[in-house]
Amino acid sequence: MRSRRAFVVRVALLLAVLVVVLVYAAHDVYSRRARNAWRRTLDVAFVLVVEPGVDARAVDDLRRRVPDLAERLAVELARYRPDAPRPFAFTTYGPTPLAVPLPVPGDDLAGTLRYAWDLHRFTSDMDGRAGIPARGFDARLYLVLDPPSERAVVEGMSEEGGRVGIARAELDSGSVDLALFVAAHELCHTLGASDHYGPDGRALVPSGLAEPDRVPLYPQAFAEIMARNRPLSATNEARPESLAELAVGPSTARELGWSR
Ligand SMILES: [Zn+2]
Repeated sequence: MRSRRAFVVRVALLLAVLVVVLVYAAHDVYSRRARNAWRRTLDVAFVLVVEPGVDARAVDDLRRRVPDLAERLAVELARYRPDAPRPFAFTTYGPTPLAVPLPVPGDDLAGTLRYAWDLHRFTSDMDGRAGIPARGFDARLYLVLDPPSERAVVEGMSEEGGRVGIARAELDSGSVDLALFVAAHELCHTLGASDHYGPDGRALVPSGLAEPDRVPLYPQAFAEIMARNRPLSATNEARPESLAELAVGPSTARELGWSR
């Protein structure tokens, strides 16, 4: 009799825990989706992370240019929704040196768990040293800046639809806007946008084109944010050099919830 009662109590406790977890998960999913309604400006922590040897003056330039990225993205949203508030308000943190290695995504279950753990370690280390509050941001975007090398690193790793974006770019005085472009690309991943370039790295047609209805189609005037480059012809494309080239094409606008 007593063991039966203990059993009932145990089951009830486990059920209560399950309910709490489900309510928490549902709330988290709901609040992340609510970001895609664009009824309010999203608060984004924009964290500059520097590797040794990065040109400090270029980092300064980049820091000053962050509001221009917010402005460029506001102009893009206004093309789809003239009445919407500005999409993003960036609060810039850093530059803070990289101390904990960047997390590397894995493809099996163990790799996924290790990645989640490494990501947590990376973000809590950065947030602690850069003085970023634990709550209050819709997304946190870490832009890791390397000195230029032969490899020409431009990459990122972000949770699709998550709250953390990590972008990595090489920085010198000539690539400030390109680094901001890469950061904006990763930010869009956290808001549900997918890559619009193919295995060869080139923009997909039509989803990777800022103006898929342009006549003639090439050269495109803009680089689509999720395709990264500006197609000059069917076989040739150029890296964007200025934020003025950044555009959110119709496919990305749909994925972000900017249009239907
Ligand atoms: Zn991407």
